[in-house]
Amino acid sequence: MIFITKIYLPFVIIKNTILEIGMIKSRFILLAAVLIMFSCSSNKKGSGSGYENKKKVITVSIVPQKFFVQKIAGNDVDINILVPPGTSPETGSLLPSQLKDIANSDIWFRMGHLGVEYSWHDKIAQANTKMKIVDLSEELDLITESPEYGKKVHEGGVDPHTWLSPAMVKQMAKKITNELILINPGKSDEYNLNYLEFAKEIDQLDIDIKNSLREYKGKKIVIFHPSLSYFASDYGLVQYSLETGGKEPTPQRMAEVVRMAKAENIKVIYVQSDFDQDNAFVFAEEMKGKVIALDLLSHEWEQNLRLMTKIFVDNF
Ligand SMILES: [Zn+2]
Repeated sequence: MIFITKIYLPFVIIKNTILEIGMIKSRFILLAAVLIMFSCSSNKKGSGSGYENKKKVITVSIVPQKFFVQKIAGNDVDINILVPPGTSPETGSLLPSQLKDIANSDIWFRMGHLGVEYSWHDKIAQANTKMKIVDLSEELDLITESPEYGKKVHEGGVDPHTWLSPAMVKQMAKKITNELILINPGKSDEYNLNYLEFAKEIDQLDIDIKNSLREYKGKKIVIFHPSLSYFASDYGLVQYSLETGGKEPTPQRMAEVVRMAKAENIKVIYVQSDFDQDNAFVFAEEMKGKVIALDLLSHEWEQNLRLMTKIFVDNF
């Protein structure tokens, strides 16, 4: 109220104009000085103490990584997802608004070999030169060729779908933990404990999936896009994809897989829920079978892998 009076005073009381403007000026200067002092002191408090008021921002490429980071850091960090739900991590496009969130990020956890990570890398790196880029695929035993497809295992040469292997997620979680401790050293004990807890959950998940799939070793799974290479290799299944090397399936490839599926009495083709399914329906018609959509990019990572396993078992 007082502030408003002071603002209007110069216009009302002409005589006192100079005095009032002078007062307002000095008030503003004082206010500005207090603001500068406040922001300096809060900056000082923020650096290195590990108890910042403002949350650190972590950029991840895909939704399941948000689950992994939260398992370790809880709500200590804000998470910026590059490939939002419903878009493809192989071909999606980067929005200008996302560059703003990247500019505030301390770390970008790359999966490693997703199509968008290659095509956006330079733009992202330029948007924030201080951000640390951590490649979660670095120490993993990556699939770069297969007996079935040779070197054309996936577009780009390396199969990027590592998050569908619990054993690999455990390795990635360790790396995530180490990096989060570097930016939040005060939380070291807590994050290490969270990692051990998550690792235990992953081990149990791995055992449960192994038990569920034990009697189906060698069974073939037909899928549109070859997303299950790591999952299949971990649990003794054989993946047949219509797409090879990131290319739309050719009529020859379709015919080949149809022949195989008929011989093996396979009645299901799996697709990723968000992507092109037309060819899959053609295939299903040919087989007199059905198309089943899998949500491979679900945030509920563990629950989703359990559900996926159950769907496979129910349809063998
Ligand atoms: Zn892929």
